[in-house]
Amino acid sequence: KVPGADQLIDALDPEQREVALAVTGPVCVLAGAGTGKTRAITHRIAYGVRTGRYAPTSVLAVTFTARAASEMRSRLRDLGVPGVQARTFHSAAMRQLGHFWPKVIGGRPWQVVEHKAQLVAAAARSLAMSVDRIAVRDLASQIEWAKVTLVRPDDFAAVVERQSREMPAGFSEQTVARLYSRYEELKTERAVMDFEDVLALTAQMIADHPDVAKTIRSQYKHFVVDEFQDVSPIQHTLLRQWLGNRQELCVVGDPSQTIYSFAGATPSYLMEFKREYPGATVVSLVRDYRSTTAIVGLANSVLERGRKLDPARVKPLKLISQVGRGPAVSFTTYDHDEAEAAGVAARARALISAGERPADIAVLYRTNAQAEALEQAFQEAGVGVVIRGGERFFQRKDVRDATMLLRANVHHAPDRSMPEVVRDILGDVGWSAQAPTAQGAARERWDAMQALVELADALAETRGADMGAYVQELQERAANQHAPTVDGVTLASLHAAKGLEWESVFLIGVSEGLIPISLAETDEAIAEERRLLYVGITRAKRNLELSYAKSRRAGGRGTRKSSRFLDGIWPAPDVSPLAKERRARTSALATGEDVDPQLFERLRQWRADLAKEMSKPAFVILGNISLVEIAQARPTTMAELARIRGIGPTKLEQFGE
Ligand code: ATP
Ligand code: MG
Repeated sequence: KVPGADQLIDALDPEQREVALAVTGPVCVLAGAGTGKTRAITHRIAYGVRTGRYAPTSVLAVTFTARAASEMRSRLRDLGVPGVQARTFHSAAMRQLGHFWPKVIGGRPWQVVEHKAQLVAAAARSLAMSVDRIAVRDLASQIEWAKVTLVRPDDFAAVVERQSREMPAGFSEQTVARLYSRYEELKTERAVMDFEDVLALTAQMIADHPDVAKTIRSQYKHFVVDEFQDVSPIQHTLLRQWLGNRQELCVVGDPSQTIYSFAGATPSYLMEFKREYPGATVVSLVRDYRSTTAIVGLANSVLERGRKLDPARVKPLKLISQVGRGPAVSFTTYDHDEAEAAGVAARARALISAGERPADIAVLYRTNAQAEALEQAFQEAGVGVVIRGGERFFQRKDVRDATMLLRANVHHAPDRSMPEVVRDILGDVGWSAQAPTAQGAARERWDAMQALVELADALAETRGADMGAYVQELQERAANQHAPTVDGVTLASLHAAKGLEWESVFLIGVSEGLIPISLAETDEAIAEERRLLYVGITRAKRNLELSYAKSRRAGGRGTRKSSRFLDGIWPAPDVSPLAKERRARTSALATGEDVDPQLFERLRQWRADLAKEMSKPAFVILGNISLVEIAQARPTTMAELARIRGIGPTKLEQFGE
């Protein structure tokens, strides 16, 4: 059932096809969420391999999260192209560094410290600086920023001053620079490295050692980078080293989804791609294949409203849904956090009763602290959850034990099929064909085992995998933290949800203080929060439910307000139900096709006249419905617009309809 080259191309729209057909040479795809960027690059790779332009092992595909990398590998395998390296920058670099370390540096590679904080605290102590926990965290992120943006300790103070970058309270840039320098020394003394060192050392190794460069460059000839808007200078440097003076690079990204600029990411490499590679093919995609018109309309409005406020003034790419109208986006206000969690869990349960698969539902939030109340509420509602897309799946003790048992039985595999053997073995550790009726720990354990069983079925069916291949896949997935689909509702932070999609998405805590988060004070930081909301909204395929809670706990004074990003979209809590309904309908209006300019002009006139005539409260309601939204609406008659806005026939007559 492996698709042939023609079928690979047929599965794409004309612009995506252009990407796939430009098999070699620099290509840049600039496009909004859900337009098929990831699909276009996977098909491009598959097409290049299928037509014999390049060997699968000569491709290095770089994505942003381990989960996305694993997903890309399995998508490629489904397209009949196994053997492509799809990795994060970090894991690709780690492999190369590990390989060449003994020869180039000598000995075994240093251990990577996952959290800077401890080392930063130790560096501070050795300089007799007094720092509390919060300061340590802030200082660690300054050091991280310096490292990803390639600022050395010696240049730190000058760069900070030039950029008027704010330092943690009570610390001058000179002090931070001194700490940074000591931190670097301390790592060497302790023979450890941090995440940034892995990238920096790999790049340096390639730059300084022609034989290393030659080996790596003869292995990898074609490079593909997904989510290129979030590439940091250090990653860009490494990419340039991988490429050498070649140009076989394809990047895809969406400047409106830059959500890691706090960690040094910048969309400028994406925007300036054509300048860096003048011969590049630049393609933009606008058809959104993921989400309904209602969802896309909201996403467009959120970006459009922010455009004037965004210091970068990046013109958002407007999306045009290919999916159809779909249900309206809903907005709900709860009294307090717990009520919100319970409300969302109840809604999720209702969707599941109506036939939705739990794995097709996600609840997204801004801060990981919000997950706790959700976990509790879902447990009470009897709905299983997978936290953060299941990255911790392989760390579960029961999963580790099961994996070990499966591995021990790898040579089991001739008179019975692999899935049968797997069922047998897992049967010994408590799996049964029937799900237990009990909830809680027993159910979670069963769900995990069931996921291993389903994975066995899927692998046997798609790849004819035997026990050896199955166990190998488990090991690979464990290394990449790529959990099999556990049938539970996903709870994930907005950052972790990047690139993923679900049928139904609940976006909670859409209030001031959470999104934008209270820490975001500068215009840049606020703009990034807005993009984060855009990322969240565009994860939903069909149902999107937004909510926030007025106060933190029951009985608390309701002080939170809905997020400023929804001003004019989400009704203030005190407007009349009629106005609420009208606004909800209008906010879902935009579809993205260009409106007839004459109609636009008449609308402007119409609104001006209404403004003169109508009483103030009524005007507030109408006035908030911006012309932009209407201008984005599909060409439609005045009567249709009037109906949506609830304008009576007399008014219409007055305006000539
Ligand atoms: P994001 O910016 O969120 O990463 P993306 O641009 O990478 O989004 P994809 O994940 O590639 O988008 O595609 C979104 C959805 O639309 C996927 O389910 C994909 O299979 C589907 N899709 C994309 N292009 C097409 C197409 N030409 N025909 C049918 N479905 C498509
Ligand atoms: Mg994508």
